[in-house]
Amino acid sequence: MSDLSRPPAAKIIAIANQKGGVGKTTTAINLAAALAEAKKNILLVDLDPQGNASTGLGIDRENRDFTTYDLLLEDTPLNQIIQSTETKRVSIVPATVDLSSADIELYTNEKRNHLLRDALKQPDIDGFAFDYILVDCPPSLNLLTVNAMVAADSVLVPLQSEFFALEGLSQLMLTIREMREVANPNLRIEGIVLTMYDSRNNLSQQVEADARDNLGDLVFKTVIPRNVRVSEAPSFAMPVLSYDPTSKGAMAYRALGKEVIKNNAVKKR
Ligand code: ADP
Ligand code: MG
Repeated sequence: MSDLSRPPAAKIIAIANQKGGVGKTTTAINLAAALAEAKKNILLVDLDPQGNASTGLGIDRENRDFTTYDLLLEDTPLNQIIQSTETKRVSIVPATVDLSSADIELYTNEKRNHLLRDALKQPDIDGFAFDYILVDCPPSLNLLTVNAMVAADSVLVPLQSEFFALEGLSQLMLTIREMREVANPNLRIEGIVLTMYDSRNNLSQQVEADARDNLGDLVFKTVIPRNVRVSEAPSFAMPVLSYDPTSKGAMAYRALGKEVIKNNAVKKR
């Protein structure tokens, strides 16, 4: 009986790639906005000490009283940490540079791999009724990223449409496989999304063809075009979906959001 009155558990998606500058944070912000437009309640957990997702969603550095650091290492309850953003239905756990020391502190902590999973299980999270929790990972396969993969239902991998893109991917896939073996057997791959795609560029087309040949339907149908509006939006502290709702970038992220919703309706991966 009581189970019926509880909201279903949020789907946790780690957005990960150990390479920097491939579009993780951009995807975290804009996928959050796209899912929110589809009436889903979203929590974005900023797991990168650079705090770019927090900045990009308009949380000023001086307003980050409680952060991901407190969530992982201070047992601060989620409801004290979570902030709403200007984007309707998108809340955030912000990050500051403090988080860079967390990676080191974690090594001596016996719960080091599952602090995020435990923190997101706090009973008070039910009060928020999130549909999706997106975790914006740092550009590394460090313990923070491990925490994201242990907490997550799935991993979404942004892949920049450039020459060495597929090289780093095999390491990431290996890490996901290891995670399944040691800590999180049900971890799925949400999908691989090509980012900064330039349809006039042969290289982009070649990376796409290679990715689809090698990875089949793990690659999202949607590709995210290189679009100047996408790169401008963070300096206005908003997702491109608000900054320029009809831009190519906004439309692509909306299409990605639909694919993610569909994936999670049928749980095919
Ligand atoms: P990561 O989080 O993987 O380090 P970011 O999301 O911060 O990568 O993106 C790296 C840079 O590329 C940023 O300056 C961002 O604005 C830019 N960028 C990301 N996606 C696009 C896109 N589709 N079009 C244009 N610029 C983009
Ligand atoms: Mg980033």
